[in-house]
Amino acid sequence: MSNECPLSPEVFTAKDYRSSLKPIWCPGCGDYGVVTAIYRALAAINRPPHEIAFISGIGCSSRIPGYTTAYGFNTVHGRALPIAQGIKMANPDLLVLVAGGDGDGFSIGGGHVAHAIRRNPSLTYIVMDNQIYGLTKGQLSPTSPRGLKTSSTQYGSMEDPVNPLLYVLAYGASFVAQGAPGDMDGLAKLIEQAIRFPGFSFVNIQSPCITYGDPETQLKTQKARIRKLEAEGHDPSNRLRAMELAQEYGTTLYTGVFYQNPNPPPTYESLIRARQQALQGADSPLEDLLEKSAENGGNGELVAG
Ligand code: SF4
Repeated sequence: MSNECPLSPEVFTAKDYRSSLKPIWCPGCGDYGVVTAIYRALAAINRPPHEIAFISGIGCSSRIPGYTTAYGFNTVHGRALPIAQGIKMANPDLLVLVAGGDGDGFSIGGGHVAHAIRRNPSLTYIVMDNQIYGLTKGQLSPTSPRGLKTSSTQYGSMEDPVNPLLYVLAYGASFVAQGAPGDMDGLAKLIEQAIRFPGFSFVNIQSPCITYGDPETQLKTQKARIRKLEAEGHDPSNRLRAMELAQEYGTTLYTGVFYQNPNPPPTYESLIRARQQALQGADSPLEDLLEKSAENGGNGELVAG
């Protein structure tokens, strides 16, 4: 099901996606840039806000659905993806966005990412990756660099970080990008591309935490560190090259599309609809099962076991 809305007669602007709630992020938090980029991307897509479901987990960044006019669900820690998939299956016509932080996505919710990728539902997963747990006051997160001193690693982290880009590429994600609020135009465009992609799309956003984050990664220095993949001549259809570049996560701040599958697999919702239609036919296995159940003295209802 496409995320486009060709029938919408109305033209929406970025401010139509901005709710009346004032964000309570710390002044200077990278997430302000992310929500602004999302407003712009949604305006470019031009779906009415009531046709958008925005699902998040728990954390500073997971407040984000409330700052939009989409239907929002601030769920439980690490469980945004399963809930978003359920919503998409129930109503494939919705444009479904999922958002959260690096802790939500790659620690407590890490197991769900692989399964969302292999099912390939058409939804966009936005991770605001600040390499720290901000909401709970600065503990080590799964993407914190080795050596980082945090409230839970006073002498410096002794662990290597999870690499979100390599993680999703290794599991076969068909659209993988990285953006940064230091390049607002580029970030809005990336989110738009991800939403338009027919299938699971992943955007990792380097969104600095000004209060607890690594001073080296802050917004004021971010612009100068960005290296755009397009300017580097990267071919986004080359998955192996994308994996090579992704290995520089944490050392080089690449932005742009790492990988876009030129032949994306069918979406999960389209397979489910096709299976439902097949089972509704007269000679369908479902009809057979019901008949057999009735012949065996049952009431024609299917029972488990
Ligand atoms: Fe942003 Fe960090 Fe403040 Fe949370 S604690 S709102 S991530 S700056």
